[in-house]
Amino acid sequence: MRGNAQKGTARPMGIAKRAQAIKPSPTLATAAKAKAMKAQGIDVVDFGVGEPDFDTPENVKQAGIRAIQSGFTKYTPAGGTDELKEAVIEKFKKDNGLLYEKSQVLISCGAKHSLYNIAEALFDPGDEVIIPSPYWVSYPDQALLNDAMPVIVETTPEEGFKLSAKNLAQAITKKTKALILNSPSNPTGQAYDRNTLEEIAALAVQHGIYVVSDEIYEKLIYDGFSHVSIASLGQKIKDLTLVVNGVSKSHSMTGWRIGYAAGPKDVITAMANIQSQSTSNPASISQKAAVEALRGPQDFVRTMNVEFDKRRKYMVERLNTIPGVTCLMPVGAFYAFPRVSALYGRETAAGKAVRNSSELAAYLLEDARVALVSGDAFGADAYIRLSYATSMESIKKGLDRIEEAVKNLKKL
Ligand code: PMP
Ligand code: GLU
Repeated sequence: MRGNAQKGTARPMGIAKRAQAIKPSPTLATAAKAKAMKAQGIDVVDFGVGEPDFDTPENVKQAGIRAIQSGFTKYTPAGGTDELKEAVIEKFKKDNGLLYEKSQVLISCGAKHSLYNIAEALFDPGDEVIIPSPYWVSYPDQALLNDAMPVIVETTPEEGFKLSAKNLAQAITKKTKALILNSPSNPTGQAYDRNTLEEIAALAVQHGIYVVSDEIYEKLIYDGFSHVSIASLGQKIKDLTLVVNGVSKSHSMTGWRIGYAAGPKDVITAMANIQSQSTSNPASISQKAAVEALRGPQDFVRTMNVEFDKRRKYMVERLNTIPGVTCLMPVGAFYAFPRVSALYGRETAAGKAVRNSSELAAYLLEDARVALVSGDAFGADAYIRLSYATSMESIKKGLDRIEEAVKNLKKL
């Protein structure tokens, strides 16, 4: 067993291949860069942020404070408290018509951690994971970290950035293990209608493919859009679906780190075992606060949505007036995702070429002092992502700056 000790055998060294296969989260990296510039006193408009700019509601904060004061500061069961699991079960029943037992629910340290646990519990080396693009940045890397193969299927604005059943059918092979869906979507802000979900569900059931349904933006929807969870479309699809959700976006609790997943008992048990050997329980204090977020008054969510809705319309309308920029109106989340590839091939006043989304994002940051995320981070180089989780005043200022910077680009 002690092979390394044998004479002439090289000791294994260095970083594991799976860690070398991934990069740091580009969304978090952009946010950090904008924060650092602000700290240096530079007046940056931050459209990079991926978190609501509202404070956590007072009743939720108070629940956290009470947890500390009452000594609720020790380990909880590794998979989360019964109290929070029950609150999550109530939420699924009320909002999605989904019935789960406690053994089918796992509380984790943010929805990103729920997704990671799913990847660890489900993916074997060589498994294929279908991910429609534009995708949220962490899906392919979480698959790679578990030696699985991301299979990217492109979607277009003409399809409302939705995966069609036809394109899904073409991507399915004998190795397909799962499909990752995100509705409403980060970065596109588009969301799946019931019909498309029914067609996707039928294919998943026919082929026995798991569906990972990331519904973290469920509460942030506009124009009367009605969110549908694919798991609610029948028992067969429910048995194959892992629904992921959390309080980060709905209750502006990104720093508290509470997310959750619900699904088939065997998968949830495997995820719980992984969690018990890795992070143990999510913070006890945050769990108490999350119970309050789920069970307490929900007017906060409505107030936040009214504000996001105004900003969404303003930002998208203005983007569409900039020559070379076209943007679909999002129905959910807090991102605009304009197509900007018509600007590629131009040159800045300083003579630098702008050939792709990262060069455009770098130009806008350096020249116009506007931080945003380049589309290549989401597998869609023709686009950029702007978050409107910032004040209306900043949005106006940022768009003025972008307009001016685009005007200053020279056609070659
Ligand atoms: N999924 C999507 C689509 C997201 O945008 C985010 C935000 N970071 C997450 C999951 C992770 O959320 P959390 O902060 O709860 O880990
Ligand atoms: N979801 C946010 C975003 O896309 C947060 C960043 C992250 O978790 O990567 O910007």
